[in-house]
Amino acid sequence: MESQGTGLGSLSATWEAEEISQGQVGMLPMLHAVSAVTRTGKAVCPYCGVGCVVEASVLGNRIVKISADKKAAPNFGMLCPKGVYLKEVFDERHRLAQPMIRLHRGMSPHRATWEEAFAFIAEKIQRIREKHGNDAVAFYGSGQLDTEASYLFTKLFKGYLRTNNMDTNSRLCMSSAVAAYVRSFGSDGPSACYDDIQHAGVVLIIGANMAENHPVLFQMLRKVRAKVPGMRVVVVDPRRTKTAEFADVHVPIAPGADVAFLQLVAKRLLALGRADKRFIRRSTEGFERYRASLESANEEALMAACGVHPARVAEVVEYLAEPCRLLSFYCQGTNQSVQGVDKCLAIHDLHLMLGEIGKKGSGPFSLTGQPNAMGGREMGYLSHQLPGHRFVANESHRAYLEGAWGVPPGSISPQPGLTAVRMFQAAARGEIKALWVAATNPAVTLPDIKVAREGLRKAEMIIVQDAYFPTETTEFADVLLPAAQWGEKVGTMTNSERLVIRSEKFLDPPGMAQPDWWIAAQAARTMGFDGFGFASAEEVWDELRRLTTGSPCDMSGMLNGRLKEGSLRWPCPHPQHPGTERRYANGKFHTPSGRARFHAPACRPVAEPADAEYPLGLTTGRIASQWHTRTRTGKVRQLAVQEPAPFIEIHPEDAERNGVGDGEWIYLVGRRGRTYGRARLTKGIRKGLLFMPFHWGDLYHPETNVNRVTNPALDPVSEQPEFKFCAIRIQRDETANRALRSEE
Ligand code: SF4
Repeated sequence: MESQGTGLGSLSATWEAEEISQGQVGMLPMLHAVSAVTRTGKAVCPYCGVGCVVEASVLGNRIVKISADKKAAPNFGMLCPKGVYLKEVFDERHRLAQPMIRLHRGMSPHRATWEEAFAFIAEKIQRIREKHGNDAVAFYGSGQLDTEASYLFTKLFKGYLRTNNMDTNSRLCMSSAVAAYVRSFGSDGPSACYDDIQHAGVVLIIGANMAENHPVLFQMLRKVRAKVPGMRVVVVDPRRTKTAEFADVHVPIAPGADVAFLQLVAKRLLALGRADKRFIRRSTEGFERYRASLESANEEALMAACGVHPARVAEVVEYLAEPCRLLSFYCQGTNQSVQGVDKCLAIHDLHLMLGEIGKKGSGPFSLTGQPNAMGGREMGYLSHQLPGHRFVANESHRAYLEGAWGVPPGSISPQPGLTAVRMFQAAARGEIKALWVAATNPAVTLPDIKVAREGLRKAEMIIVQDAYFPTETTEFADVLLPAAQWGEKVGTMTNSERLVIRSEKFLDPPGMAQPDWWIAAQAARTMGFDGFGFASAEEVWDELRRLTTGSPCDMSGMLNGRLKEGSLRWPCPHPQHPGTERRYANGKFHTPSGRARFHAPACRPVAEPADAEYPLGLTTGRIASQWHTRTRTGKVRQLAVQEPAPFIEIHPEDAERNGVGDGEWIYLVGRRGRTYGRARLTKGIRKGLLFMPFHWGDLYHPETNVNRVTNPALDPVSEQPEFKFCAIRIQRDETANRALRSEE
């Protein structure tokens, strides 16, 4: 697609980047005074799930200063470098400003009005549904969408277009945590809140690199520990990350050994008499089976599976041997695995055995990767969900929403739709004919990327709705829809601690860009559907909050006016309710019996162990200075210079064995393809394991996408893929290295 045909450059305004900081970027922004500021606005930072509120000072249609309110939750004045440099992401050269239509593949796209774009989409979707059925149409969204947009797309696809083929990149991020919450406690979402850090005795961070991926939350932890010397921090991670460096104990377990480690710790604590008998008796079920599984587990086998020095495990057990207020943070390191749900269940089991949930300073706390992964789940944007933490498989849930939406009984299919990886595999087989992608970049982010890209090529119509251009996915688009971004629209998001935060509009979007909720509503109206006549985001919010009444994520008390005054945590069931800091404080859970359930998951191996042909393992992840696929942060000079090229961490002994020097370009070759990056030798990674970040896609280099080698194997319950381990071997790139040496 030709970049000059996108409507870019249609604004006459210039966006002079203004240095907000000349020095080292710390947690607190260093700002210079700006005169003649006309107004300020607040919005949720569009990056990670910490959900920091950013305050923008605006002159004309330009942000001149970024700051954060020291008194306001959740970040209390703190921002990480990505937040500090947020004003740089408004550069119109990287924005989509006008709808575009490409009538036939191979033709150049042409500029369109919104009416033309919606008419084109409506006609084509209708024709595909008539010819191939409702399930030939699919939607793939993102935790970047605000709650209003997530709701309207769910309503449109599941209620009106009658397909549950609607999933989002949250499937790749935290669907294992979601499934485990429902299995253990009967309801999605954490019990705890950020304030619990203040009251915790032991903080267990397992499969999360908070220092890089949730920096402001990590800073809160850092501050508390500086004041509370007795607090203990345990980090369980195969890599010695910046988070691990901060820990009292770092347990560098073998990849995939989380369940074994948690069982081992629980077994020893059980033997020490640490089971909270009163809590177990009153508030749980299934403990006897859990106890039996721990007692019969072979301790030597568990220790061998962990692959760590026994002293590390002993230290963790010692910390937990007395009642201690245990707070556990976990994220993609546990979730992105074929045992993702089991790993989360094992964390829950440990908390239940110790009675460490529902009390100040305790609880299992999954961190969301994106700013509104939680809000999207509240609105049912995964393929098995419906708004208000309801499920498509539940007859009364379907009937309730069909009634509320005014669609005929039976409109919502009882079958869960295709999950992310399966959706693109189905498209590659020619089964998905129309695919609407919103606010994400699946041409980079899905495992085994060549299959996903084949799906994007094969579908008859790809609609890409985004604020940014180009992305690797816009290359496949037949229709491009320009979306307003952060600061250019009103909307709500829910952060990792269930805090619902309203964002304000304080800038006009470029050209014809519109809020995502507006695009969903107008498209639905063009398709001839009633029920989408919303005039504002507030009207959408009013409808959706009422639909949560009586559900675990009840937000019915969060009137628009209240959210304008400040953020609130759900459940918040009536307009006078102050919101809920901590769930399950009364020992009652959302299961039919009201009791939390033990699960005692078994240890299972990774899906693709290393072997003679592919003798090394590869794990993937994120770095502090980049976000997702660099569509924004890659364009921010101050961030891009921190890690200008894709790198591959490798232990020096593995490097020596493979003849790799520090800084050399190497290929990683796996069963599905090969990827490319610069070797970084470090003893901070286990021998036999390599690490590569996932941020660099084809726009950087055609071979630097780590998903050219990752494994699309799925967790059997959550269908979250195994990004955290695949087998590879190293191939040196002599051409690149010769060039490198000559440059040096
Ligand atoms: Fe944004 Fe997350 Fe940084 Fe906060 S910690 S400023 S939400 S990226």
